[in-house]
Amino acid sequence: MPLGLYLHIPYCEGKCRYCDFYSKGGSRSVPDEYVDALMREMRRYCNCDCTSLRPDTLYFGGGTPSLLTPSQVARLIDAAAPAPKAEITLEANPDTVTAESLSGYRRAGVNRLSIGVQSANDTQLRRLGRPHDAAAARRALKLARQAGFENLSGDLMLALPEYSYEELDQTLALLIDGGVTHISSYLLKIEPKTPFGLHPPAGLPDEDTAADFYLYAVDRMRAAGFAQYEISNFARPGYESRHNLIYWNCEDYLGLGPAAYSCMGGVRFHYPPDLRGFLAGSAETLQDGRLDAAEYIMLQTRLAAGLDLDRLAARWKVLLNERQLRLLQACETAGLCHLSSNRLTLTPKGMLVQNSILTEVF
Ligand code: SF4
Repeated sequence: MPLGLYLHIPYCEGKCRYCDFYSKGGSRSVPDEYVDALMREMRRYCNCDCTSLRPDTLYFGGGTPSLLTPSQVARLIDAAAPAPKAEITLEANPDTVTAESLSGYRRAGVNRLSIGVQSANDTQLRRLGRPHDAAAARRALKLARQAGFENLSGDLMLALPEYSYEELDQTLALLIDGGVTHISSYLLKIEPKTPFGLHPPAGLPDEDTAADFYLYAVDRMRAAGFAQYEISNFARPGYESRHNLIYWNCEDYLGLGPAAYSCMGGVRFHYPPDLRGFLAGSAETLQDGRLDAAEYIMLQTRLAAGLDLDRLAARWKVLLNERQLRLLQACETAGLCHLSSNRLTLTPKGMLVQNSILTEVF
């Protein structure tokens, strides 16, 4: 079974108004002390004095991992000693990268870059509290290609305040013209404790309008050669995120850093969101129980490849009964899923109501 290693970098320049990821705003860099703390935790999971976890994928997520210097990234990659041909991804914010830092990341071993573009509309970016404008996103994509990154992903947020098809088209054009090979496309979710949660922005689309934006984006990306392989992820052939597939396929992943989640051997656990405790080495992981059939079904039906019903029966002893089959056949008639003798896949329309379908059927 492959192993994915996630390193959380909980530092950001500011705090975007919609964001509930654990990170410390007002940061211009990542202290070496934090890199040392990640190495200490790597040693802990190696159960010996070395840090060589030999992951098949390594993901620097955040926060803003592009606040790490290339030499800090190199230290962490060398310590983890990824397997040959490992996928090594680093998330970057457009305004934090330069030609030098990007070449440095490449030399350190990063072979996949994920750039937080979000929108091509500067008014929107300001409203979201993003620290960059669209020109910076264009520049970052160009510099990334010049530095040799072919495996290049861009984030695209949908259904933003005062959203329009024009904004969506312009953002897709920015990403595609910028040479991305992968797009992560998320509907804006208003999280309760964020500034947007406390003071919701005006002009938020209702659920039906948001769904229309999503379905339109799926069509546009497909027409541009980006196949949907997961609810929110689209790729040119061969550029699917191997790291994220580990999550959805319920394989082993280890997340290090405050608020980082893991699932190893079917056991889930996470670090508390406590940077100080993590730095001091006093933050013990908290158990989240075992992976179960319901979660397996939920994660597999996020994928365009869908849920293998034979595997569901073999691994979890779950067989569909007559009632469930009838419900799924009704969903198929409504254009929400496809059901064959051994596979259930949701259509893009079905993915939008995944929770309701799964609650009803399972
Ligand atoms: S840069 Fe990313 S992690 Fe940081 S505050 Fe903004 S959305 Fe959150």
